[in-house]
Amino acid sequence: MNDAPFDLDPALIARFAAIVGENYALRAQADIAPYLTEPRGLWHGTSRLVLRPGSVDEVSQIMRLASETGTPVVPQSGNTGLVGAQVPDASGREIVLSLSRLNRIREIDVLSNTVTVEAGVILQTLQEAADAADRLFPLSLAAQGSCQLGGNLSSNAGGTGVLAYGNARELCLGVEVVLPTGEVFDDLRKLKKDNTGYDLKNLFVGAEGTLGIITAAVLKLFPKPKGREVAFAGLSSPEAALSLFSLAMDRAGAALTAFELIGQRPYDFTLRHAQGVTRPLAQDWPWYVLMQVSSGRSAEDAGGLIEEVLSEGLEQGIVGDAVIAASLAQGDAFWNFREVLPDSQKPEGASIKHDISVPVASIPAFIAKAAGAVASVSPGARVVCFGHMGDGNLHYNISRPENGDDEAFLGLYHAMNHAVHDVVRSFHGSISAEHGIGQLKRDELIATAPPMAIDLMRRVKAAFDPAGIMNPGKVI
Ligand SMILES: Cc1cc2nc3c(=O)[nH]c(=O)nc-3n(C[C@H](O)[C@H](O)[C@H](O)COP(=O)(O)OP(=O)(O)OC[C@H]3O[C@@H](n4cnc5c(N)ncnc54)[C@H](O)[C@@H]3O)c2cc1C
Repeated sequence: MNDAPFDLDPALIARFAAIVGENYALRAQADIAPYLTEPRGLWHGTSRLVLRPGSVDEVSQIMRLASETGTPVVPQSGNTGLVGAQVPDASGREIVLSLSRLNRIREIDVLSNTVTVEAGVILQTLQEAADAADRLFPLSLAAQGSCQLGGNLSSNAGGTGVLAYGNARELCLGVEVVLPTGEVFDDLRKLKKDNTGYDLKNLFVGAEGTLGIITAAVLKLFPKPKGREVAFAGLSSPEAALSLFSLAMDRAGAALTAFELIGQRPYDFTLRHAQGVTRPLAQDWPWYVLMQVSSGRSAEDAGGLIEEVLSEGLEQGIVGDAVIAASLAQGDAFWNFREVLPDSQKPEGASIKHDISVPVASIPAFIAKAAGAVASVSPGARVVCFGHMGDGNLHYNISRPENGDDEAFLGLYHAMNHAVHDVVRSFHGSISAEHGIGQLKRDELIATAPPMAIDLMRRVKAAFDPAGIMNPGKVI
């Protein structure tokens, strides 16, 4: 696609601009700049045009024109993605299509427990609207104040609610998609049960904008829990954390709504660098777990369950120490501690990050084996391991050695990735549990996935987007 002999000429720009109106066709580089890089500044691109359509019909007209003229289009929602998938390439020939003006909640159906939402609705806005309707929309992640549903669905976001409620894909019942041709595929159905042929919506969810533009979706809502209890526990090892997880699943079952693992290093970094956090436990431990139990009946019910799990854990010697939040505010403070963990790594210098998953039962063995792999690439490098243990998903990040050189460490980027990902593969795990592929992991995916899987993905891509105008160069 990038070799195609076309350029974005002013007449074409004017035709695109006429679809959305001058105010919503950004051409000045100062206006466009925020769309060309992501907030961490790791990925930069070039473009001469950002379009901000205000209706599905305008999206459709844009894609029709893009298709006619072979103009590559990069969909963008909240621009918080972590794999460079929402950023255009350096050629200047791609246009950015921002969905942020499609921001209506079309319908909340409390009886069907569904919400029909447009792609540009901010995740937190949806959470608040569901709450006002006495329902829960459980997708929850640290970027929720700025990421949007179209981006959440396209990257199949995970976050902290997956254990009990599933990731974005599992929360999605139907989609409305504008295809690269401009045709609108309206599949906005509210059905939990629907066995009528191929599951087309799930091709678009997680496709990172490479197959079409999601303009709206039907999502699941849940009854709002009547009680929520959060606890912080200190443990001696990942094996102990696995035993505690097993115990919590056994006692609390579906009421166990979060089980987050935190290594001592990210815990220490957070205490050292984050503003306004307090030490959750008096004593230091090699590992910590943040656990949440929710009850559809009452706060007492949730409290009883979490106490049972922790006291049994203490009795069995699995748990070293634990504190149950004494108030909602303390529970929020525990969650805040978890949410600021990733940023607390920054002041420690350069880091190389991995978003991996392995079967939950393999987590302790993975942690042990990966430590050896890291040391073989960079002796003294500091493992910063935390994540959604209940989902088998770890953010297995590596900070450079103390007093080490940032640039020299980043020079080991590929070697470190390969070493850690080889360990992941040895456990039949995934090199991208929740952040996606984008540009960051595309070449590794192609090099290491089963050739048949890549071939099938390419056939799907060719069927939906034969001209290759949808977010080219991303995923495959
Ligand atoms: C602080 C922070 C914490 C995070 N925590 C988590 C976490 O816990 N779990 C997790 O899974 N992720 C996490 N993320 C990454 C997360 O996936 C994204 O933040 C979010 O889901 C992407 O939404 P967005 O609106 O920003 O999408 P964007 O970044 O704008 O886009 C993401 C992808 O979707 C495509 N896209 C966007 N909108 C559409 C559309 N309407 N139709 C088709 N394609 C589209 C883009 O082209 C791109 O490929 C985190 C990010 C940050 C910055």
